[in-house]
Amino acid sequence: MTAMRWWRRPEIVCQQWVEMVTDYLEGALPPKLQQAADRHLADCPHCREYLAQVRRTIATAANLRDEDVPDDVVDALMRAFADFRGAGEA
Ligand SMILES: [Zn+2]
Repeated sequence: MTAMRWWRRPEIVCQQWVEMVTDYLEGALPPKLQQAADRHLADCPHCREYLAQVRRTIATAANLRDEDVPDDVVDALMRAFADFRGAGEA
C-alpha cells in the first residue's frame, strides 16, 4: 500500500488513524478527515483503545500538551499495532 494514497480515499486504516490522533483530539483535522476518523473509530476497537490510552497518557502527564506524548509511548503502541495488523506487511 502506498503511504500517500490514503488522503484521497474515503476510508482510513489504523496506521493513518494513529498518525492523526493528536490532531483528532485537538479538532485540528479537516472536516472530511475528521468524519473518516470517526467512522474508523466506530468500526475499530483497536483504535478506540489507542485513543483511550493516549487520553490517559495526556491526563496523567497533566503538564504535557498532547503533541508531546512521549516517543517511547508512541513507539510501544505502534509496535502493538504492527502486531495486530497482520503478517501480510512484514
Ligand atoms: Zn483502527
